[in-house]
Amino acid sequence: MNLILMGPPGAGKGTQARRIAERYEIPQLSTGDMLRAAVKAGTDVGRQAKAAMESGGLVTDEIVVGIIADRIGEADCARGFILDGFPRTVAQAEALDAMLAARRLKIDHVIDITADTEALVSRITGRSTCSQCGEGYHATHKKPAAAGLCDKCGGTLTTRADDNEETVRNRLAVYHQQTAPVIDHYRNGGQFRTVDGMQQMDTVFAQLCEILG
Ligand code: ADP
Ligand code: ADP
Ligand code: ZN
Repeated sequence: MNLILMGPPGAGKGTQARRIAERYEIPQLSTGDMLRAAVKAGTDVGRQAKAAMESGGLVTDEIVVGIIADRIGEADCARGFILDGFPRTVAQAEALDAMLAARRLKIDHVIDITADTEALVSRITGRSTCSQCGEGYHATHKKPAAAGLCDKCGGTLTTRADDNEETVRNRLAVYHQQTAPVIDHYRNGGQFRTVDGMQQMDTVFAQLCEILG
């Protein structure tokens, strides 16, 4: 099963992608996570991506398309994959169509998770992530049992440098300008669905599982 999870920053794509990955045993391909790893490792891609990520703008289509083209060719994607945060421009969606056609693959589901703008801002500014296992937390919606520590593995929770209010507002503006039009690329295909991301995390997950079967 090949799946695209769409939605604005903070909608819950990463949270739900992790759960889907576990339930359906297919990998979560998050371009944001891959780019952050490249920045941390100081690779060429990381050096080229850093400034755009810090300001809340988009990294070039060429870079992210290259990352995804390499990644979907890896062995663990043979049974399927979850795209989280890609495609984010119409050009990326077109490049994805071409790379899937070349591999005789197709997308089975495109699911857009929606949420109100103010909820997105508070979700992102309250977000933290385990530096060890990647589990996501929130200052009010999903508090860890012990402050600053992961419930699952005891790892230290970290916050992203770009999760501040000013950058978030810029990321939301970029989403409306460049990513929202991607929905039209998929809307008329039979595989497009919308899920209300303002519901409880468990409810969102249950609805996603119903769609995915
Ligand atoms: P995205 O990957 O779309 O940017 P995340 O999955 O990282 O979003 O979620 C952003 C923040 O909001 C995280 O702190 C997460 O714990 C929290 N969150 C995710 N889904 C919900 C929900 N349905 N209700 C409340 N908080 C949520
Ligand atoms: P969120 O889901 O909270 O918006 P991500 O982790 O998906 O954050 O992305 C973080 C940053 O990485 C983005 O603001 C952008 O700079 C860059 N990025 C991630 N995916 C893409 C993409 N598909 N195209 C261009 N830039 C991307
Ligand atoms: Zn952890």
